[in-house]
Amino acid sequence: MKRILVTGGAGFVGSHLCKALVQQNHHVICLDNFFTGRKENIQTLQSLPNFELIRHDLVEPILLEVDVIYNLACPASPVHYQYNPIKTIKANVLGALHCLGIAKRVNARVLQASTSEIYGDPSEHPQKEDYWGNVNTLGPRACYDEGKRLAETLFCDYHRENGVDIRIARIFNTYGPQMHPNDGRVVSNFIVQALQNQDITVYGEGEQTRSFCFVDDLVDGLLKLMQDNMPTTPINLGNPNEITIKTLAEMIIELTQSKSKIIYQDLPQDDPVRRKPDIERAKKHLKWEPKIALNDGLQQTIAYFKNELTP
Ligand code: NAD
Ligand code: UDP
Repeated sequence: MKRILVTGGAGFVGSHLCKALVQQNHHVICLDNFFTGRKENIQTLQSLPNFELIRHDLVEPILLEVDVIYNLACPASPVHYQYNPIKTIKANVLGALHCLGIAKRVNARVLQASTSEIYGDPSEHPQKEDYWGNVNTLGPRACYDEGKRLAETLFCDYHRENGVDIRIARIFNTYGPQMHPNDGRVVSNFIVQALQNQDITVYGEGEQTRSFCFVDDLVDGLLKLMQDNMPTTPINLGNPNEITIKTLAEMIIELTQSKSKIIYQDLPQDDPVRRKPDIERAKKHLKWEPKIALNDGLQQTIAYFKNELTP
């Protein structure tokens, strides 16, 4: 049984991770400022003796004694990370520094929730971990992309200079239950619109691609990456099943048997054209690959949103 800090633990991915760690009988400290996270996400955990919640903003330092840290504290939806870009940079950079400071002081293993966004609008396809990326440093996504890139740099420097035991997960688009109905990312937007028979808002012509990973698969990958003797170099975690955004809209309309129509809106600036993880490194070192097909994951997510939207 370990003492484990999950920053951003009341968010979408964080709440699934907290649940999995609590089920393994670890003592979990969930830290969150509730910017995009919700108490409902962790409600079933709060009465448990091995779960603890701290409302704290990770841009401020905190003293904790833990064995393991998962650093997830950062808004992940473009709508939310662009709402206050300077705060997003602080959450990424100061948040990473504060986690690394704890890890160094108490000798904890620490994982950074990095992202496929560090590859920017990639000129290599699929994206391997040794690709350095194509990020517009000045654009509206830069607060997130560059914040996450600098966090990776900090993790590497603390490892090289101070021997901190690090892991870096480059997470690709993940979806599933516990997403906020107003999250703003594509899967939740389309499902909420379809369930309400509203227009489905495809940005651009919908020919851009993403590769969607179900949250249970991602959490399994994160747990495996934190085992002993895993690489300290970045590892892609995602589902290599690549589809266009238009196809995703059509799938969701069919699965929900919705009367919604697809409408086309402006493509946001710097929206990546293609994205698909190369997961050979994860397969080799973690013996991990996603198991849940998009169709099945979407059905579970639709069932969750149906319940959320019921008055
Ligand atoms: P989310 O927005 O649902 O969760 C983020 C959590 O962090 C929320 O609970 C939020 O309240 C909390 N938070 C934000 N700023 C904070 C701060 N300053 N101090 C304390 N808590 C703070 O997003 P998510 O999808 O669960 O993403 C979790 C992590 O995984 C993020 O770091 C994100 O960048 C990374 N990631 C997610 C995806 C994905 O597709 N879900 C993809 C790549 C990377
Ligand atoms: N998107 C869309 N309609 C929406 C929300 C998103 O067409 O209502 C598109 C968006 O332009 C992008 C893709 O879906 O091409 C994935 O967007 P999301 O915000 O989920 O994540 P990203 O991968 O861009 O960070």
